[in-house]
Amino acid sequence: MESVNQKIDIILPNGIELFIKREDQLHPIISGNKYRKLKYNLVTAKEEGYNKLLTFGGAYSNHIAAVAGAGKEYGFETIGVIRGEEIEDKLQDNPSLNFAKQNGMNFHFIDRTSYQNKTDEAFITTLHKLFGDFYLIPEGGTNDLAVKGCEEILTETDKLKFSHVCCAMGTAGTISGIINSSGEKQQVIGFSSLKGDFLSDVIRNFVTKENWNTNCDYHFGGYGKVSDALIQFLNDFYRKTKIPLDPVYTGKMMFGIVDLIENDYFPPHSKILAIHTGGLQGIAGMNTILEKKNKKLIAYND
Ligand SMILES: *Cc1c(COP(=O)(O)O)cnc(C)c1O
Repeated sequence: MESVNQKIDIILPNGIELFIKREDQLHPIISGNKYRKLKYNLVTAKEEGYNKLLTFGGAYSNHIAAVAGAGKEYGFETIGVIRGEEIEDKLQDNPSLNFAKQNGMNFHFIDRTSYQNKTDEAFITTLHKLFGDFYLIPEGGTNDLAVKGCEEILTETDKLKFSHVCCAMGTAGTISGIINSSGEKQQVIGFSSLKGDFLSDVIRNFVTKENWNTNCDYHFGGYGKVSDALIQFLNDFYRKTKIPLDPVYTGKMMFGIVDLIENDYFPPHSKILAIHTGGLQGIAGMNTILEKKNKKLIAYND
């Protein structure tokens, strides 16, 4: 499956061209990179005879929504282990979890400390006692099979045409697949949506190439955090291009790309491909949070 590369029509200096790969339009409900990451996991789960998927995520997780959607479409029961016991009583306020529920996902809410230890063998054993046999997909969906799926994002033409490929990072599975399939002369840049510089080590577990670097300057205070300037950027970018970006990943990446272009980070005549990894389902949830704080909302309706 291939998605469209759309040229971004904003004025850029030094003959630089910027394109965006619309992976957000790859699948109506299993959005963007989550489709790529789940693909071979679902094939394997089917082959190995599982009929239940279990995974982990936060309250507004794109991954949780995607696993629920995939379960419904491909005939798996789904269980979402969700961070934060308090969320259970506030389900109706949460568009992401509502979507997952409508797609048949069952939830298991756990406190934040237990969530931190969710990969411990003892905890997994407890989950098996509760839910029986299941195919386990890690938080964010990153494993070898996910990276393999993300190796299919770039086309042969993309590998030749673009000097730089940019992608947002959460657990760094997507960028790892992109690096593995990138062209010799391309530079792949990962924009971290989290505070701290630890994803390079994760990437090195999955790749052997060296044509990549990470940028940790555009996390806006950390995972899921936004600023007024970021929201303003998203709304302006939409007004100019009609391309919706999500506030957690692709919006921060695009803010970073435009800022770096304006600061002459990219050589003249660079041809940059930004990956739109999707995540638009998270906008409604972010707006409920912004609304409570009396902040400007993400508005893509004109
Ligand atoms: C999950 C997600 C990412 C991060 O992907 P990783 O493989 O975890 O780095 C990026 N963009 C969007 C929209 C996502 O939903």
